[in-house]
Order: sequence, then structure tokens, then C-alpha cells
Amino acid sequence: MSDAKVTLDDAQGVDTAKTLAADVLGRAATPTFRDELIDAGLLIPMGVDGLYGRSEVFESVVEGINNLVTRRGADQKAEVMRFPPAMNRTDFEDSEYLKSFPNLAGTIHSFCGGDREHHRLLKCLDEGEDWMENQKPTRAVLTPAACYPCYPVVAKRGPLPEEGRTIDVFSYCFRHEPSLDPARMQMFRMREYVRMGTPEQIVEFRAMWIERGKALIETLQLPHWIDLANDPFFGRGGKIVADSQRAQELKFELLIPIESEEKPTACLSFNYHMDHFGELWKFHTADGAVAHTGCVGFGMERTTLAMFRHHGLDVTQWPAGVREALWGQQ
Ligand code: ATP
Ligand code: ZN
Repeated sequence: MSDAKVTLDDAQGVDTAKTLAADVLGRAATPTFRDELIDAGLLIPMGVDGLYGRSEVFESVVEGINNLVTRRGADQKAEVMRFPPAMNRTDFEDSEYLKSFPNLAGTIHSFCGGDREHHRLLKCLDEGEDWMENQKPTRAVLTPAACYPCYPVVAKRGPLPEEGRTIDVFSYCFRHEPSLDPARMQMFRMREYVRMGTPEQIVEFRAMWIERGKALIETLQLPHWIDLANDPFFGRGGKIVADSQRAQELKFELLIPIESEEKPTACLSFNYHMDHFGELWKFHTADGAVAHTGCVGFGMERTTLAMFRHHGLDVTQWPAGVREALWGQQ
């Protein structure tokens, strides 16, 4: 590439020059949506695919959507729990996340040596060698989905009350899926309502939130539709689990085109876990049956990106109704 000769006086040459320029800048000749978001200062690249800083404007949209979710869920009388973006490693192991998504999990390691190992660490850094030898796993792992930390906490309280429980969680989550698609981040926020109770209570909750999710996205004036979905289960056996999840209609997603029309992005998800978590953490309904659980998840960054995609990068130009829904009377 570096010794390619470029003449600018023929059309092909101009194209080559563009490609070369794009190559030097590390981006395509035609700016992608990601480039536009970065150029507008909305996302701040950090040198790792899928890891970004967010601008004040970006955050104001996230906050507006989050507040809208709170208003639409006010009647749920949900118990608010806020966890840091890390969870107890034992709870994480118990959750069986590693069985289904070992490739997405993020563990937290820390230096666990003495003086001698520290010297070695500094020497490795100096010499540009691998320095991870004495980094050992800690008792904490990164949270993969906002609802994960709340199940063991609620299970420890004993049987659920007659009416079940609804929990409101909001957390940064980590998934190791580096990508140039701005809608596929490694660290992103999920707002969720989590329902625990009888199968009937969960099924009713999920049906209601599919309707509420659609209404909320309609308020934001975004194109969308609901579709049956499955989680990206790992490996050869994963396909069978995914097929069974679909056959049982356990997961629905609200899709919005962001990166492409053909492959729209899941911005909200509506999940029924049946008795999976109830069995794992041994929690029961008031009448002693294993509890069923379900959750509705709002992808905060994805919904925010959908807003920029469909209403433009300048929030002052967004439709008045959308601005009002996000930020009230202005
Ligand atoms: P996908 O199928 O696109 O990987 P998902 O359906 O598995 O996503 P869920 O596990 O249902 O995602 O997570 C709940 C919500 O979190 C999703 O609806 C989405 O809005 C958001 N989300 C999931 N993965 C990412 C990601 N990598 N970057 C940004 N948001 C994400
Ligand atoms: Zn969940």
C-alpha cells in the first residue's frame, strides 16, 4: 500500500487517493454512522473497539429516555436496586452464564505478587513483554446483564410475597464483543424491570411490557417492530438451545434499524426465563413452587443511537414532541 503511486488527474486515481486517505485515518472513504457520531463529538473513541466516552448531549438523551422509562413504569411500584457494574464471582458462577456465553464474559484480575513479582512486572513493561503472569482473578466479575446481581439478593430474603416482586435495575454491563458497529459496544447500560413470581404473573408482565415498549418507542417517533429472538448461545450445542428458546417463545426483541435496514438492532428485549433462575438460586413463590422470572431490558445506548440515526445529530432540530417527551416543556 505505501509504495502505491497515486495520480490525481484521473478518476481512478482520485478514488485511490481517497482510499489511501481513509486508510491513513483508519476509516472508510464514505463516513460511517460511527464516524459521524465521533466527528459530532457524541461518542469519544478510546482506542478499543466498542469502548467510548459519551458527550454531555449524548448523556442528556440517555437520561431523558431513562426518565421516560421511569414514568411509564411508575405504576409497577418496583423496588429500586442499583449495583456497581461488577458482581460476586460465586453468584456469577452459579448463574451458569459461562455455560451459555463464555466468550462474552469479562473477569476482573489484579496484581497478586510481592516485591519480587513487582520488579518483574516493571521489567516486563519496560521491555514490552507480557506482564499478566501475576494478575490473578479477583472475587469480582463484570456484570453481563443488569438483572443478574438481583436474583441471589432477592432469593436470600426467602419466599416471595403473594403478589411476587418487581425490581428496577440500571447498570453498565460488559460483553466482550468488540465491533465497529457503534450499537455493539463492550460496555453499555441496561435499564430493566425484573419480575419474579408465578408463571402467570411473568407472562402477564411480559405481554404488558411489549405493549408499553412499543408505545414508548412510538412516543420517540422511531420506526420499530417486534420479533421473536434468541440469545447467542455459544458453540455447537448452542444452536439447539437457541432453537428451543425460539420454539418456546422465551425472548422477544423490539428492533430498530440503526446500522442497516436489513439487519435492524435489538433495542429492547422481553425475556421469560421460566424457572431457570428460581432453580439456580432456590427461590420460591408464596405457595412453595419454584419462582419463575422474566425481565424487560432497555438498551440505553442503542435507543439513544437510534434517536441520532432517525432524528439527526443535532438535538435542537428534533421534533418538538420528541424533545418534550425527553426533557419536558422547554
Ligand atoms: P444482541 O442479540 O444484539 O447481541 P441481545 O438481544 O442478546 O443483543 P440482551 O441480552 O437481550 O441483548 O440485552 C438487553 C438489551 O441490551 C438489548 O436489547 C440491547 O438493547 C442491549 N445490548 C445488548 N448487547 C449490547 C451491546 N453489545 N451494545 C449495546 N447494547 C447492547
Ligand atoms: Zn434481564
